[in-house]
Amino acid sequence: MTNSKSIPLARIRVAVDAPQHSGLSEPLDYWCEHALAPGTLVQVPLGRREVTGLVWPGAGVEAEVDAGALRPVSTVLEALAPLSAHWCELVAFAARYYQRSVGEVALSVLPPQLRQLNPTQLQARLKRMVKWLASSAPAADEPAGPDLSPDQAQALSQLDVAMAASVDPDAAPAPVLLHGVTGSGKTEVYLRAAEHALARGKQVLVLVPEINLTPQLEARFNERFAAHRIVSLHSGLTPANRLRNWMAAHLGHAELVLGTRLAVFASLPRLGLIVVDEEHDPSYKQQEGARYSARDLAVYRAKQLRIPVLLGSATPSLESWQRAVEGRYQRISLPRRIGDGALPRVRLFDMNTLPRAKGVMSALSPPLLDALRERLARGEQSLVFLNRRGYAPVLHCTECGWKSACPHCSAWRVFHKLDRTLRCHHCGFTERVPRACPDCGNLDIAPLGRGTEQLEEQLALALPDARVARIDADSTRLKGSLEQQLGAVHAGEVDVLVGTQMVAKGHDFRRITLVAAVNPDGALFTSDFRAPERLFSLMMQAAGRAGRDAAQAARSEMWVQTWHPTHPLYQALRSHDFPAFAASQLEERRIAGLPPFSHLALLRAEARTPELAKAFLQAAADWAGQLPEAELVTMYPPVPMAVARVANVERMQMLVEAQSRNALQRLLSHWLPELHASKREHKGVLRWAVDVDPLAI
Ligand SMILES: [Zn+2]
Ligand SMILES: [Zn+2]
Repeated sequence: MTNSKSIPLARIRVAVDAPQHSGLSEPLDYWCEHALAPGTLVQVPLGRREVTGLVWPGAGVEAEVDAGALRPVSTVLEALAPLSAHWCELVAFAARYYQRSVGEVALSVLPPQLRQLNPTQLQARLKRMVKWLASSAPAADEPAGPDLSPDQAQALSQLDVAMAASVDPDAAPAPVLLHGVTGSGKTEVYLRAAEHALARGKQVLVLVPEINLTPQLEARFNERFAAHRIVSLHSGLTPANRLRNWMAAHLGHAELVLGTRLAVFASLPRLGLIVVDEEHDPSYKQQEGARYSARDLAVYRAKQLRIPVLLGSATPSLESWQRAVEGRYQRISLPRRIGDGALPRVRLFDMNTLPRAKGVMSALSPPLLDALRERLARGEQSLVFLNRRGYAPVLHCTECGWKSACPHCSAWRVFHKLDRTLRCHHCGFTERVPRACPDCGNLDIAPLGRGTEQLEEQLALALPDARVARIDADSTRLKGSLEQQLGAVHAGEVDVLVGTQMVAKGHDFRRITLVAAVNPDGALFTSDFRAPERLFSLMMQAAGRAGRDAAQAARSEMWVQTWHPTHPLYQALRSHDFPAFAASQLEERRIAGLPPFSHLALLRAEARTPELAKAFLQAAADWAGQLPEAELVTMYPPVPMAVARVANVERMQMLVEAQSRNALQRLLSHWLPELHASKREHKGVLRWAVDVDPLAI
């Protein structure tokens, strides 16, 4: 290549993943001897490194370029077809909305391996993919679906009307909120909707919260669409398979992509339908880097492409529900279980009625134990859940009051009895349980409270004939162990299943007739305004595990052990009345000015001392006060996060609230560049980040 200025060169804008603190949030300019299509993968010099970047739309093609001032594109990865303009627009929107650089978002949502390959290696990968496509050709035909229930048929015809609207070039179809009680057959509606889109030659994107927790959904899609190419996209794939699947979608070979939140950015040239299953699930929100909501981006992407998006849930997020109330989303209901199976009867057991004898520490009330014995005698399964893993949340000394605090965090270390350890669930710090109190030498140190390990132990003691199994993050640490344990439950080798919320989600357990929540009250009284919404959703989902087999539905029950049986949340749960619960919660939020009636962002800072973190946030607040949008937003004072110290880092946060999304967005876009600049004056601050539409406050 020559650097002579006499040859017309192309100025190329390239999105690169520059570190956030560099302040380089826009694509950078390079030159090349010929123009490159936007979306082309390239390698360019950045500082002393060679990095992968994407040619970004808006390049001044064939403009006069002073080659001396710009650096050249080093390598063009021409083998890969460029990403589409729509895709770039989606990324640009996400970057703008969540206040990250375009390059960071663009590169972070591509398969990691794509950034490491040279042109020869990329060619080889493409060849290998073609081979794979040939060797794993889909079947010739696929099974027909079951007959639809009247509700499903009704939902599907409404959906078809919405899908037909997408043909109209002037009108994007409104997002569809499919509100279906557990067991009402939402999946069949997804399958039929996908079938209709596939029949029109379109690609379909199906998002699920956690792929490991929904193997059955994957199996159902694979079975039904045996004659189509389905690929999955999630972080559990090997890097090579993730790249292969991504390329198959990008090149239009894969017709259906089933994936977790990262799949919302899959490149799909013929995308015609997006399904978001369990749309309320918090795992759709990315918790680091660009903190995006895959659910919200799915809605944006559907609007951008004028295609239908189907959001499904038994307990929709209050944001989506409110939009349906306002008529911005179309609500379609599946109010009954398939086969008119009854929803489990919800029994609220009042813990106040138990005699308060000292030493009665069991989590299991005698009537609940009786109900479990009944199931055991009938050969039915039960599920008991408690949202706390380990044996006990804290160990304490009965003599001097010592507690098993984590030396690095403002949290207790959890007692795990199986391996006799104290483990911090925040920083991972683990030690053997001491023989005696470290402070006074007392030998009598005892667990306080209880977790799933202890519950398992108590159940085994109380029900000596029962086969008790536990499923939680501890029991499923080894690869494949979750599948194995779920398999045992399905095979009927387990009588009582104990677990955290992990077991309450999604699984289609056919033989469970009793679900019990032993201690769910905690979420009623936390400072997080979304806690009741999450609790209700979890309880409804857990209840939905019982009586999925219509023959057993009539005698299926959910037990809730509570000290507050008259609480409105439990009352709504008892009548399976999500609309009533949503209405009361939304009214509370409206009065308190909380989302969806306001818009929030959180600015978080981490430093070695709370003072340093606070000083940064305070300075940030002062800056924001000088911006023109300051009048339209409320800045709350900096406060420590719920767990203020993790791994010896102090964490503070500051809430920003606005009535209008636009005002908040305008403030953030002016504010954040100032913060990048002022960070240099706050050297004690290790990290800071903004979270737009935070889920946890
Ligand atoms: Zn002591
Ligand atoms: Zn810790």
